[in-house]
Amino acid sequence: MADKTTALVTGANKGIGYEIAAGLGARGYRVGVGGRDAGRREEAVARLRGSGVDAFGVPLDVIDDESVAGAARLVEEQEGRLDVLVNNAGITGGMDQTPTTVDLTAVRVALETNVLGVIRVTNALLPLLRRSASPRVVNVSSTVGSLTRQSDPERDSGPIAVAYSPSKTMLNAVTVQYAKELADTNVLINLACPGFVATDFNGFRGHRTPAQGAATPIRLATLPDDGPSGGFFDDDGAIPW
Ligand code: NAP
Repeated sequence: MADKTTALVTGANKGIGYEIAAGLGARGYRVGVGGRDAGRREEAVARLRGSGVDAFGVPLDVIDDESVAGAARLVEEQEGRLDVLVNNAGITGGMDQTPTTVDLTAVRVALETNVLGVIRVTNALLPLLRRSASPRVVNVSSTVGSLTRQSDPERDSGPIAVAYSPSKTMLNAVTVQYAKELADTNVLINLACPGFVATDFNGFRGHRTPAQGAATPIRLATLPDDGPSGGFFDDDGAIPW
C-alpha cells in the first residue's frame, strides 16, 4: 500500500481539475489524474511530474460503467488506498439551453456527466475511501446551481441554461443525500464552487485563473476531521442553496 495520502481527481487533464491535482501534489499527496483521452491524460501526468508532483494516470470516463469500474480496480490494485476523491469532471451540455426550445439531448448529457457520473464514480471508489483514516469527497458544483441565487431578480446569476444549471442543482441535492447517509462515518463530502474561471468550459471568458478556482476544492479535500460535511462553499464561505 502507498505510504502517502492518495487522491483521485476526475477530469484532471486540464482546467480546474489539473490545478486541483497540482495543488494536492504540492501538499504532498500522491495524485491520480483521471482522464478519458490517453494522450491528454499522460501529457498532464508528465507535466505534473515535471513540476514535482507524484502523479499517476487513471483512465476514466465518468459516463461509462466499465471505465469507472476499471479505474476503481486500478487504484485498488496499484495504490491500495484512496483518501481523497474530487469529482471535478463536468460539461455544459452545449447550447442552446433555452427552456422552451431546448433539444432534450442537452439536458440528458449534462445530467449523465454532472450527476450520474458523480454517483457512479463515488460509489465505485467509496469502498476504498472508507478504509482511509480521513476520507474526503469533493464534488465540484457551481453557484449557478443555487436556486436561491437563480430566483433572485436582483442578482446576475448567469445565462438561462436549462441543462447545466439544474444539473448542478441536482448534484447539490445528491451530495446532501450522501452526507446524510455517511453522517455516522468519517467520510466528509462537500460541494465546491470554483468561481468564474477561464477554461475551455467557457471559451476562457472567466475572470479567475484555474489555480484560483482550485483553492476551495483543495481546502475541502484537505479538511480536518472535525470539518463540515454536506456543505456548499466557495472562497467566500457557505453558498445559499
Ligand atoms: P474544462 O477545462 O472543460 O475541464 C473539464 C474536464 O472534465 C476535462 O478534463 C474533461 O476531459 C473532463 N470531462 C468531461 N467529461 C468527462 C467524462 N465523461 N469523463 C471524464 N472526464 C470528463 O472545464 P473546467 O472549467 O475546468 O470545469 C471543471 C469543473 O468545474 C466542472 O465540473 C465545471 O462544471 C465546474 N465549474 C467550472 C466553472 C468555470 O467557470 N470554468 C464554474 C463553475 C463550476 P476532456 O479533456 O476529455 O474533455
